[in-house]
Amino acid sequence: MADSTPPSQETLSNLLHETRSFPPPADLAANANVKADAYDKAAGDRLGFWEEQAHRLQWDQPWDTVLDWQPPFAKWFVNGRLNASVNCVDRHVANGLGDRVAYYWEGEPGDTRTITYAELKDLVSQAANALTELGVTRGDRVAIYMPMIPETIVAMLACARVGAVHMVVFGGFSVDALGQRLDDSQAKLVITADGGYRRGKASALKPAVDAAVADRPAVEKVLVVRRTGQDVEWTDRDVWWHDLVDSQSTEHTPESHDAENPLYIMYTSGTTAKPKGILHTTGGYLTQASYTHWAVFDLKPETDVYWCAADIGWVTGHSYIVYGPLSNAATTVLYEGTPDTPHRGRFWEIIEKYKVTIAYMAPTAIRTFMKWGDDIPAGFDLSSLRVIGSVGEPINPEAYVWYRKHIGGDRTPVVDTWWQTETGAIMVSPLPGVTSGKPGAAMRALPGIVADVVDENGDSVPDGEGGFIVIREPWPSMLRGIWGDPERYRDTYWSRFEGLYFPGDGAKKDEDGDLWLLGRVDDVMLVSGHNISTTEVESALVSHPSVAEAAVVGATDKVTGQAIVGFVILRSGAEEVSEETVKALRDHVGASLGPIAKPARLLAVPELPKTRSGKIMRRLLRDIAENREVGDTSTLTDSSIMDVIAKQLPSAKQDD
Ligand code: ATP
Ligand code: MG
Repeated sequence: MADSTPPSQETLSNLLHETRSFPPPADLAANANVKADAYDKAAGDRLGFWEEQAHRLQWDQPWDTVLDWQPPFAKWFVNGRLNASVNCVDRHVANGLGDRVAYYWEGEPGDTRTITYAELKDLVSQAANALTELGVTRGDRVAIYMPMIPETIVAMLACARVGAVHMVVFGGFSVDALGQRLDDSQAKLVITADGGYRRGKASALKPAVDAAVADRPAVEKVLVVRRTGQDVEWTDRDVWWHDLVDSQSTEHTPESHDAENPLYIMYTSGTTAKPKGILHTTGGYLTQASYTHWAVFDLKPETDVYWCAADIGWVTGHSYIVYGPLSNAATTVLYEGTPDTPHRGRFWEIIEKYKVTIAYMAPTAIRTFMKWGDDIPAGFDLSSLRVIGSVGEPINPEAYVWYRKHIGGDRTPVVDTWWQTETGAIMVSPLPGVTSGKPGAAMRALPGIVADVVDENGDSVPDGEGGFIVIREPWPSMLRGIWGDPERYRDTYWSRFEGLYFPGDGAKKDEDGDLWLLGRVDDVMLVSGHNISTTEVESALVSHPSVAEAAVVGATDKVTGQAIVGFVILRSGAEEVSEETVKALRDHVGASLGPIAKPARLLAVPELPKTRSGKIMRRLLRDIAENREVGDTSTLTDSSIMDVIAKQLPSAKQDD
């Protein structure tokens, strides 16, 4: 690929230009929880705005200062006291909402449970009493390694109730991953289950815990929920949940905790490096989780049925299955299993069955559904939906439009929500009653959040240009640090730009000043002096009818600095990209983004390496494209996929 474009000075190229836009439905706009005036109001008095949002919660003692900011360390609602579990459960019961359904739980095999707020209060109280009996008190860390069952949420809330710090580890993580997190957090209790159901089978969990705790004496007890009934090994350290918890009193008097009491540690998925224990505290976190869940999804708790398909082992599950919805007294669907069990319409069947009105899922799932075909969702009644959301990765315009049309009936707004484990809650997103959404854009920082896009020097870029997304002011649900490592906290997030929080993502402002997230800065490709985002090239590839999914990386190239190598899953299922298709795809990308963005090579793959939360791990593909030994694959959904890709791709070797 000959290229004579001169090197440019821009931080990140703005290549994709999107003209489609979808205004909010009139009735939604008229009745929206948040209207357009919220932005200016919050900008005029940011701390006053967050103070007003904190009044969504029930405080045992009011704060005396909204924000104490000793950069980069923040305290919100200083000296305020509250109990997160009381805010999520007890107060709703006290307000007469005890009969409202908190969770419709759907097990993968089709077993179900309906749990009201009154029942949830009893369950959480019993579990809190059990924790106390096990000697768990304020500040202790409790690891939770569970399937997606109600007890997982009960365990989290029971920890919050007694002031212990929960640390949920995704139930599919390996012994090593669990062990590493146990070491780092020094948890004294592990709560687990015999197993859970995934892909139609009982999949064991306890053996991994047994192996992980075998040489970790810091773990005193293992509390085990019986979910599948499969055989388990047993030692004196183990306690059955049904023996210990079910016999406890349903009365438990909650203590109040400081607003800055640690609520949980969540290890980031580790797409980039050694997992970091992100620490969240109570008052500010709950305030922003609650506000954003209500604002971004336009939640009407009396009538909505809300469903977030993420796993609880991911921050999205914490903020938008547990703390956000419960603090708003919402009715939430909780589903244990995978989207293709027992059939590929399972998600749509759940929406039809529970008349879900708000659904929230990841672009990786949406692209998979696109691949499976339009006729699958068409077989279900999805007319109850009124807002649908996306989180986890940039949503390609093509996937957005498909989601809106085939799931949202061309009627529902799509909210593309940008945030990360570290931010604790949504930061940039459309508001469904205000924003005319553009496919692929996260649009604007929410009221009370000050985001910007800057160049290498930290200067704000003009509209129409790309750079790094930064957050200019502290926000209530911001991480309070990395567990046990304040230096890493400073280095990772606060050292790149003086006084600015740096999330590590690229972004651009379009001609209207709306924000588009462009993927991780580490993944940006430098081609002939242009910094090209992976997102734009991948979006161009998936907008071609022959491509179901795509990942691109920059591989070292003698001529251009880096050359773009594209890994594509072809809709036809073909194992090689034919010469015509290579040409068609290169031309298509060239026509969408300009010749600079044309991939130098295109390789067909059966699957892409993804983390548990569905994110493409481009660094592993870069290893392959540059013919290196593949790096750490421990957080992959399926680590064998790298062997499959490497074996299938002798042509990936750089031999020229
Ligand atoms: P690690 O930091 O250990 O590599 P991770 O970043 O994958 O893990 P998360 O905190 O779950 O873990 O993911 C947050 C990241 O996901 C964001 O920084 C961003 O790169 C991406 N992301 C999330 N939502 C969006 C979105 N709506 N648009 C674009 N990117 C998104
Ligand atoms: Mg991250």
